[in-house]
Amino acid sequence: MTGKITFSVFVHLKSGRHKSLSKIRVERTNITYPSVVEQNNLCRAPVVVGVDIGGTKVAAGLVNAEGKILARNRTPMITAGAAANGLAAVATSIRGLFHDASSQNQIAAVGICAPGPLNPTTGVILNPPNLAIWHNYPLAEEMRRVYNVPVRIDNDANAAALAEAKWGAGRGYRNFFYATVGTGIGTGMVLDGRIFHGKTGAAAEGGHLGIDRNGPVCNCGKRGCIETLAAGPAIARRARQKLVENPSSVLWEIASGDIQTVSSEMVGRALALNDPVAKEVMRETLDMLAYWLGSIIDLLEPDAIAIGGGVSSLLAPFLDEIREHWRGACINPHAMDIPLVLAHYGEDAGIAGAAALCE
Ligand SMILES: [Zn+2]
Repeated sequence: MTGKITFSVFVHLKSGRHKSLSKIRVERTNITYPSVVEQNNLCRAPVVVGVDIGGTKVAAGLVNAEGKILARNRTPMITAGAAANGLAAVATSIRGLFHDASSQNQIAAVGICAPGPLNPTTGVILNPPNLAIWHNYPLAEEMRRVYNVPVRIDNDANAAALAEAKWGAGRGYRNFFYATVGTGIGTGMVLDGRIFHGKTGAAAEGGHLGIDRNGPVCNCGKRGCIETLAAGPAIARRARQKLVENPSSVLWEIASGDIQTVSSEMVGRALALNDPVAKEVMRETLDMLAYWLGSIIDLLEPDAIAIGGGVSSLLAPFLDEIREHWRGACINPHAMDIPLVLAHYGEDAGIAGAAALCE
């Protein structure tokens, strides 16, 4: 059969809907419908799939050689039953990126970032507290069996650090330090273009560097980790403590009078209204982050530092202020030459990071 066929080009939107970009007219015989990748005409094979596995969801994306995310898909993670159920959830998420199952043979490699602890060399997921379905599970090996392509695995902060170094805020720098500040603080070090793993892959847990041995107890069991002092929940906690003695703070109004609902995002809103409590909380937070980064600089002397994660938008206006605080927080005479910038990838950090793991 010969004829003219018109079909539309779609892109995936974050909302999960599709948007028509344009119409293409073709005239040929034996039309085979193209995959999403071919429709977008943005990517030539090979296609790298980046998979970001969390405690409740799997996000998968198609990523090109420039680190651009061409398509993304998000599905629930299965967290109960046999380990194979978790693998099936990952496969479902990847499958959603392609027009049909046969198009999956375009996949050249799969990168995965998953909750730790894990072994990036063997690709075994050890015993992640928020993903109990996998215990000593050889995820890389199982994925290779399904897709018959190279599979690389690392934790999310290491992977995101590599994506920033390859394609984002750390591009062009030899040694790069990345921190994601959100509900916790994760860090990654990319030295000479490679993630620094330490002996077993457990290195670069910079969020659990202690800055106060008498400080509050962290989720990890230690006292005074920067994570338990300056991540999102810590910002909210310190605001709640100060609110008790500050009945006139606008934070009360923002939280509708319920102190327990105060979040770091609310602190940001109060800050925009010049609220003294929010300003005090931020001053302390910036002080602690600067002191912590000062120690990082004294240890590593990176060429650049980038901050990402859910709290980074709150910190964004204050990056220069953090740098100013380095003056008393480290002995490196060249500290002020080190850029402190926002990370390039936002919510896509996991997908981009996973793809970056593939050479
Ligand atoms: Zn800790």
